[in-house]
Amino acid sequence: MPFQQKPLNLAKELERKFPAEVLSTLREVGKFASQMGMTAYAVGGFVRDLLLGTPTLDIDIVVEGNGIALAQKLAQMWQADLTVHERFLTATLQWRLREPKSASTHAPIHACTLSRLDIATARKERYPKPAALPEVEPASILDDLWRRDFTINAMAICLDPKRFGELVDPTGGFDDLQRGIIRVLHERSFVDDPTRIFRAVRYEQRFGFKIERKTLRLICHARDESLLTKLSRDRIKHELWRILQERDPTKPMRRLSKLRILPVIAPELCVTTKRLEWMRRANEWLNWFAEKFPEKRLEREWALLLTLLPTAEAVDLFSQRYQLGESERECGLALLKALKRRTPKRPSSWVRWLNPLPLEAALVLAAKRSLPNDPLWQRYFLEWRWARPDITGEDLKACGVAGRAISIGLQAALAVKLDEGADASKQLEVALRRARQYQTSRR
Ligand code: ATP
Repeated sequence: MPFQQKPLNLAKELERKFPAEVLSTLREVGKFASQMGMTAYAVGGFVRDLLLGTPTLDIDIVVEGNGIALAQKLAQMWQADLTVHERFLTATLQWRLREPKSASTHAPIHACTLSRLDIATARKERYPKPAALPEVEPASILDDLWRRDFTINAMAICLDPKRFGELVDPTGGFDDLQRGIIRVLHERSFVDDPTRIFRAVRYEQRFGFKIERKTLRLICHARDESLLTKLSRDRIKHELWRILQERDPTKPMRRLSKLRILPVIAPELCVTTKRLEWMRRANEWLNWFAEKFPEKRLEREWALLLTLLPTAEAVDLFSQRYQLGESERECGLALLKALKRRTPKRPSSWVRWLNPLPLEAALVLAAKRSLPNDPLWQRYFLEWRWARPDITGEDLKACGVAGRAISIGLQAALAVKLDEGADASKQLEVALRRARQYQTSRR
């Protein structure tokens, strides 16, 4: 980012970067908070990303006063769904419908652009013991910013009508953003919450920043003191998964490995340059597939991790450690088995080789053997994987075929269709021949 003077007010920037509807939502949040005797702020990643010139619609609001009461009022006005977490003093507004549920002057505006808004009461946190979840109590915006992870995430923009756009930056976040630095707010930061180690690496690698020297020392210290082992498995997995969701997950993974953090949380992961390159290509294949088949859900994170799990024991250990399901484990084992085979020539052999694999495993295998623009592999995912014969089991039954011979016959029909472009009558002929051979061999 070009070096700038710290702005005192970001109203103009907000106007430039956001559609009018979003801006009016922010103004209304500020206005209704003020009418209820409170002050609302947009905070955290929203402010950081606005200043970085990559604005996001992921908006976190913090309220000096009672965030839940404000959220209840807004939900009622805008006819949004409301979820409240009393213990954490937070609430989430969600608009499920693009159209308003009933005639309202507010709903159409808000329902069309934002899909959710997180609202929290400004709070202080107290950590009863290292790595435990904090106890929280209402506080001022400054307290709320000082409890955050890094300076670049500890800025707020005031939404109060009289101060709309005012930047609140008590910890030097703006300067660190300019310098490209990830810096914690106090010495105990990683003791209180070691998940911040993963967050530091994630932001550093996402923005091409540098973790500041003292912060880096604190990370190494936290690692050496085994603070990470105090975290629950769920929290570590959550952070690891967020890292794997980054645009290029190989960068933070490499950094975590260099910092000797991966061996602490999962010694079975084998991080080498070659495997990271495989992961990078797997990520590209997953992106390619998601674009072609947006309706298909992929377990991307697990697929990416498979590139770092070299043996069945490693797959077992990782799945047990992070309590993954049986299907994930089987996906990993199936991949290892399929990797032992050479890439076949005939399309029907591809289908026999890859169709039994979950999509994730097939895509990771594709990444091992090819680049995402490889036409043969693309053809497998676009066509062959979904191909069916032009005849059905009923056709075979009508000719007297029964039991397992039906599926054997259908497989043969698909093979001639794919390998030779056979039409339906040829497929039927081949299927019957194969099915009868099978039946004879069983007598
Ligand atoms: P991202 O782009 O990664 O989603 P974000 O800033 O929106 O970035 P969130 O995890 O949604 O990240 O958190 C929102 C804000 O809450 C952060 O900007 C930060 O101020 C604060 N925060 C989140 N996690 C922590 C933590 N572990 N410790 C302290 N503050 C945190």
